Amino acid sequence: MRSQKLAERVVIIGSGPAGWAAAIYCARANLQPLVLEGAITEENRQAGTLPLGQLALTTEVENYPGFPAGNLESYLDHAIVKERRQYMVEHSKHGVSGPELMELMRQQAVNFGTRIVTDDVVKVDFSKRPFKLTSLSGKLTEAEAVIVATGARANYLGLPSEDAYKNRGVSACAVCDGALPRFRNKPLVVVGGGDSAVEEASYLSKFASRVFMVHRRDELRASKIMAGRARSNPKIEILWNSQLDEVLGNDREGVTGVKLGSTTGKSGSQHDASGVFLAIGHTPNTTFLDGQLELTDKQYIQWTTPQRTYTSVEGVFAAGDVADDYYRQAITAAGSGCMAALDAERWLAAQGIE
Ligand code: NAP
Repeated sequence: MRSQKLAERVVIIGSGPAGWAAAIYCARANLQPLVLEGAITEENRQAGTLPLGQLALTTEVENYPGFPAGNLESYLDHAIVKERRQYMVEHSKHGVSGPELMELMRQQAVNFGTRIVTDDVVKVDFSKRPFKLTSLSGKLTEAEAVIVATGARANYLGLPSEDAYKNRGVSACAVCDGALPRFRNKPLVVVGGGDSAVEEASYLSKFASRVFMVHRRDELRASKIMAGRARSNPKIEILWNSQLDEVLGNDREGVTGVKLGSTTGKSGSQHDASGVFLAIGHTPNTTFLDGQLELTDKQYIQWTTPQRTYTSVEGVFAAGDVADDYYRQAITAAGSGCMAALDAERWLAAQGIE
């Protein structure tokens, strides 16, 4: 039976592909989901954690199945309400853009009866059901089941010049942005020395004339096989003991180069580049959980059962990048959002809540 105070059946925290996919499935299962999509605050803008998630910070999305290149304008005019449509910037039509994809998913969730609150969850109490969620505005929401889909944010170095050229040559996702025309046949820079950096550099080498990997030590953190891949790729040059001091550019062209410093006291260098890709790790958005869910040593939510979205608390499910530091793609996040909705629906049914 539902609690007397009429707690929500299921609350979804987060509004990236995992959150909306979960909402669509929960709504179609008549669970009347409530999505806490995040707050629109300056703090969230600076941290890259505004509603609609990381995809809303990217440009074209060419690898989300179902959205080949084409003119989506008239479809978007019909699918998205006018008030939100007017804020969507034009793009170069290589596919759907990140913000468009997120607005379409959000609208699809709304169409099936999802309710949305534009607020952050700042505190949770998962000690007993109904679970309690406190939002930034101070509102308390109770829920029988919760799906956490708050994603992860890419780490940046925090340089002012890096911030100035975000989306104009500075990116933290080669798979998202690397194939854009501005990067083709041009030298590019990847910062980092882990598996992600090698993966990004290898991916970018398909399009770029040359890829400089800027790494702060004289040894890669990447696994042997990945490190070997970087070393044997004729287009990749590793700049050892180096750090990115400044992204160079101008208003018209965006990024035009980088200024590098030495981590061993040697002299720095300058390189032409039309793009700078940060691959220095991600930070999952799990701080608000305050230790109430089991996390991995990298602070991602620990899925406790293979092929399920269960967490260490029964009735709390996790989906998308907040629990996945490996695939981190829109399509995999959406897939796990669907899984979390099905897991939550079945779990609620087993509790007699339908
Ligand atoms: P990671 O392994 O933590 O590597 C981060 C890299 O960024 C390190 O080389 C680190 O340098 C560098 N870095 C961190 N902070 C920095 C800073 N402030 N300034 C300059 N450099 C900085 O992260 P990841 O590469 O994203 O990988 C995350 C996980 O996903 C790993 O477990 C990885 O194996 C896995 N993954 C696997 C694959 C694959 O197998 N195909 C692909 C991608 C990711 P230091 O080395 O000096 O610490």
